Amino acid sequence: MAVDIQSVQARLQALRKQIEHHNHRYYVLDDPEVSDGEYDALMRELQALEAEHPELQDPDSPTQRVGAGPLAAFGTVEHAVPMLSLSNTFSKEELRAWYERNMVRRLGRDATGFVLEPKIDGLAVSLTYRDGRLAVGATRGNGLVGEDVTANIRTIRSVPLVLADAVTSAPGPRRARVPPELIEVRGEVYLSRTAFNKINEERMAAGLPLFANPRNCAAGSLRQLDPRITATRPLDIFVYALGQVSENEPRSHWQALEWFRELGFRTNPYNRRCETIDEVVEQCAAWQERRESLEYEIDGVVVKLDNLDDQRELGAVGREPRWATAYKFPPTQATTRLLDIGVNVGRTGSLNPFAILEPVQIGGVTVKLASLHNDEDIRRKDIRVGDWVLVQRAGEVIPQVVGPVLSRRPPDAVPWTLPETCPVCGSPVVKLEGESMARCTGRLVCRAQLWETFKHWVSRGAMDIDGLGEKLLSSLMNAGLVKTPADLYGLTKDRLLGLERMGDKSADNILRSIEASKQRPLPRLIFALGIRHVGDQAAVLLTGHFGSLDALMAASETEIQAVEGIGPKIASSIVDYVADEGNRAQIERLRQAGLRFEHERAASREGQLSGLTFVVTGRLARATRGEIEARIKSLGGQVADAVTRKTDYLIVGEDAGSKLKKAESLGTKVLTEDDFEALLANPP
Ligand code: NAD
Repeated sequence: MAVDIQSVQARLQALRKQIEHHNHRYYVLDDPEVSDGEYDALMRELQALEAEHPELQDPDSPTQRVGAGPLAAFGTVEHAVPMLSLSNTFSKEELRAWYERNMVRRLGRDATGFVLEPKIDGLAVSLTYRDGRLAVGATRGNGLVGEDVTANIRTIRSVPLVLADAVTSAPGPRRARVPPELIEVRGEVYLSRTAFNKINEERMAAGLPLFANPRNCAAGSLRQLDPRITATRPLDIFVYALGQVSENEPRSHWQALEWFRELGFRTNPYNRRCETIDEVVEQCAAWQERRESLEYEIDGVVVKLDNLDDQRELGAVGREPRWATAYKFPPTQATTRLLDIGVNVGRTGSLNPFAILEPVQIGGVTVKLASLHNDEDIRRKDIRVGDWVLVQRAGEVIPQVVGPVLSRRPPDAVPWTLPETCPVCGSPVVKLEGESMARCTGRLVCRAQLWETFKHWVSRGAMDIDGLGEKLLSSLMNAGLVKTPADLYGLTKDRLLGLERMGDKSADNILRSIEASKQRPLPRLIFALGIRHVGDQAAVLLTGHFGSLDALMAASETEIQAVEGIGPKIASSIVDYVADEGNRAQIERLRQAGLRFEHERAASREGQLSGLTFVVTGRLARATRGEIEARIKSLGGQVADAVTRKTDYLIVGEDAGSKLKKAESLGTKVLTEDDFEALLANPP
């Protein structure tokens, strides 16, 4: 037993030391070495151990303290009311347990009335106003003493320097015509994703180390000794709590938020009041879906009991108020080792480096590979094989390597250079001026490019050849039966039957699919050709303008550029494509095979959707979203990203989510793809 206690004590000490180290890097240096998820896991282990062994509790443990002490370079500010942290809940069950533990058991009643606020990933500040004027701005620091950053806070445009006269709903017995004599509010200073990316790009260009995330960037920007630097960073603020006030104290948090707005503070428009815990749980889950749609990062939702008397009655335990909790989303970042860098060759020959990682869990998914963008990015970020790297996985996008953790760089980490020849076909690699991607010059000699070209040709948005999956394509290529897409149209049943495991019926089916693909409309064919930068939307626009493939091929760069929606990059890429003899030969063979080179114009349809606004959402079966949108535009309609009162129709595919709900709530007309076709046949 004694041994057991000793090992517990040793683990406690190790955890406390590790967490203190990370606190210092995160709060003082604004340069964390591990992801928040990893930090949270250490903290949870420590909290659990301390709960199991109350006899080993230590008032100096990081579980008892907030943040870290102020930097000596700043003056200090003592907080009249401590600035606390928040407890975390990571699931619906934990959220309900928080409610049971605090509201039901402690208050002894089913409390109702909560306020939900997006938990913005920035840093907490306190703003004190005397006689309506900003007097002091401070960071949270260790919760009791913060840093005096008044000069820096004054550079934030959304921080009012003078408060407005709030007359409409100033709470309390006396309706104040002027702001209170003393009021201290708290809020989160943050940076938008765009501003964060821009700052990091500038730092990269200047060879400076990058910020790991917008939070660290915001903290680093606010905690500048020179306010002129802070002024160049577009910091913003949402105010979300009352620290102290001399008069007219509000009765509820919701009322306080309303008052803040009237005084001229910026509050988050997504704050919301919920009546019951069931509603709270439902809303928190809904927020998880929405997090990517915001212009700033949030790492959860803060749930606060609304009634301020109830808040006071519940008080705090250690560094966490009982009346609030942070419902945290699954982490999106983790750190792991970069074992190696591989290179993929894309359809147009681009060399795409990717990271081979020591497998790591991010938000419940094991990540082994991640994107590294291009070789320039690797060089600028100075990512080396063997490094610890921060990996991000957000939403449906491919995981990305954010950057190396320089403080953990092993001495044997090796800088990486792009191969000079294509790793697939051995052709020379070139890098054109003004392009970030290096390219293999092997074209259709390069198996990788050929493979991607075929996959694109048969894909749904292009020639849509049913039954020609990756396995069959690879057998066809291996047997030497197809070398370019045009070869598909010369395939015979005899040849197909020569392939391993190819039955009579399958061969017939495949030939039928290939035959059917000859009837695809011209925009599909143009898209299928795989001309660089020519996507499905551009293909529709070009078809609408030129009407035939021959007219497009005969057009000059200037003529192509004159098409509405077509830029110089697309125009010059088309001209380059057409100038290539091999491409022209391939197009001739496609013509002979009987593919459709002409567009059936429907002149009478022009402008038939004018004055109508459409939004397209969900997984579509018949066409890609880009195609439908381009069709709408070519018929004079407008396409928008979000459903509003101005939306006339929402076109939905499978798994249409929040947009469908919004449309239903607004009474917007909802169309399936079939309904949309019917609408075109019978315009309104
Ligand atoms: P926290 O971020 O989990 O929660 C409290 C903070 O939330 C407040 O101080 C405030 O800044 C913020 N907040 C945002 N919106 C709010 C709102 N509407 N109402 C109230 N508060 C709101 O707690 P913390 O103590 O600031 O930081 C702990 C967290 O920081 C950890 O869970 C971890 O994610 C991260 N951390 C990471 C490292 C690392 O090395 N990666 C180190 C230390 C801390």
